[in-house]
Amino acid sequence: MATPILPGAVIGVLGSGQLGRMLALAARAMGYRIHVFSPDRYSPAGQVADHEIAAPYDDAGALTQFMRGIDVLTFEFENVDAAAARIAEELDVPVRPGGWVLQTAQQRVVEKTFLRDAGLPVANFAAIETPADLAAAISTAGFPAVLKTAAFGYDGKGQAVVHDAAGLENAWSALGGQPAILEAYVEFAAEISVVGARNPAGQFAHYGAIENIHRDHILDISIAPARIIPAAAAQAVDLTHAVMEELDAVGVLCVEFFLAKDGRLFINEIAPRPHNSGHLTIEAAFASQFEQQVRAICALPLADTHQARPAAMANLLGDLWSHGEPDWAAALAVSNVKLHLYGKREARPGRKMGHLTALGPDAGSALATVTAARCALSGEASQS
Ligand code: AMP
Repeated sequence: MATPILPGAVIGVLGSGQLGRMLALAARAMGYRIHVFSPDRYSPAGQVADHEIAAPYDDAGALTQFMRGIDVLTFEFENVDAAAARIAEELDVPVRPGGWVLQTAQQRVVEKTFLRDAGLPVANFAAIETPADLAAAISTAGFPAVLKTAAFGYDGKGQAVVHDAAGLENAWSALGGQPAILEAYVEFAAEISVVGARNPAGQFAHYGAIENIHRDHILDISIAPARIIPAAAAQAVDLTHAVMEELDAVGVLCVEFFLAKDGRLFINEIAPRPHNSGHLTIEAAFASQFEQQVRAICALPLADTHQARPAAMANLLGDLWSHGEPDWAAALAVSNVKLHLYGKREARPGRKMGHLTALGPDAGSALATVTAARCALSGEASQS
């Protein structure tokens, strides 16, 4: 049995963006202290943490000093160097989730191979490392297919849909011939995600299926509960539980799925941390994904995830600032809407600056409300 890490203890976070910020706010509400480590100063998480260390992720000296001051280590993104987790382990600081979970999630070929070998559903895929791999990859994935960089891809960066051999060769050259993965294109009816939490005793909790709508490969809107048949939602939850068990993952983990038009579910990605699609749990559920992360990594019982009311979340990207400061008062005049801003100083296009969450009597009304509130920010009339 893992020993509980009780309020008053220090939670260490590698990374200092909005996920770390919302984790810090939840942790502080429960009486924990938070130390964050990243190359940035005055970061979204650092602004609300007890202590912010600004140093490169490969600075072993700074990492060692950081680990000496914390009781448990967690992450807010998966592309963490394995050396950081090793330093924590050498100092007997629990690393949750473990380094192997991060390593599985940070390289697409490793991730998909793990899922396939565990008997979990993924679209056909093949690794491409040399030009000699192209023909075999085509016969495995077929066309159309999606070519993605194997490493460090997020939000659709380094991706192309290809329709024939020449298109694949061009797309791979455009990626500089770096290691890649070719996946069968899934004709999906919906994209959904399940945010799960698991503590060291193996207790599992989840928020059901959340429906996600992307724009330019970036998450735009999430809706919970997902407007899909209940059997598919239940299956997605079971698969998420299976992923966490197979990985022996402790903490919060999100599984992103395609729900194909023929009703089959395919896992697209796993993110071993709270997820953008789970932000609506702050208002919609009794305990948010961030509180669950605190409870799970501190070896405490997980909270009830019951969702009292349907909810929808809309991301606020830096583009919204292109004509000046958004009209916050106009959005907040829409009832049942909450505003979250992440404290980022510079609003760049595509940068996640904050989000809005709306609650409603059903998922469709929550979606209409959050869309209207976001339109009000830039003085537009809502489309819906
Ligand atoms: P990813 O970076 O893998 O999360 O992909 C970003 C987005 O690209 C997904 O949310 C999908 O909308 C789309 N996409 C990625 N892979 C596939 C696929 N195999 N089939 C269809 N659409 C895909």
